[in-house]
Amino acid sequence: MTRDSGLGSGKDAHEQARGWIALGRAKEVGESQPNGLQAHLAECAECRDYAEAAERVVSALRSVPLAADSRLVRTTQMRVRARAQQLQQRQQRLIFVAASCALVAVSAALTTPLIWQGFEYLGLRTQLPSLVWQVGFVLFWIAPTVAASLLFLGHGTHLSGSSNGSALGE
Ligand SMILES: [Zn+2]
Repeated sequence: MTRDSGLGSGKDAHEQARGWIALGRAKEVGESQPNGLQAHLAECAECRDYAEAAERVVSALRSVPLAADSRLVRTTQMRVRARAQQLQQRQQRLIFVAASCALVAVSAALTTPLIWQGFEYLGLRTQLPSLVWQVGFVLFWIAPTVAASLLFLGHGTHLSGSSNGSALGE
């Protein structure tokens, strides 16, 4: 650090001045050593040119990435916001699908035993073989429920991207 305290003369002075400039410390050193670097720059056109060129390069390097950065930041923010919206919409859709499925399941669970009992009653009253009213029950009650479930699942798979529809078949 003691070597930075001043500038000598001759070739070493140029080298030291350019070293400070190259390190981007020209201002810093110039402020703390007004009689060192600044004095040298004042009387040395070569080093003054070098300093100006270095400053131009530095400012050019600074302005380009800054412009790119702000643009990048803006596009990134937009992308993040769009993605967040997308995820929120998808979550809402999934909640809707889950609620629909739950509703179908609950209504089926609540009403199926009653309908089963109704078919059983009718079967016994009309003295049909149990297979007949059971098939009737399946056709008239289970099938629409399965169809409704498949419809909701199909809706869900269309929205969520998974595939449950083929597993159940029809
Ligand atoms: Zn010089």
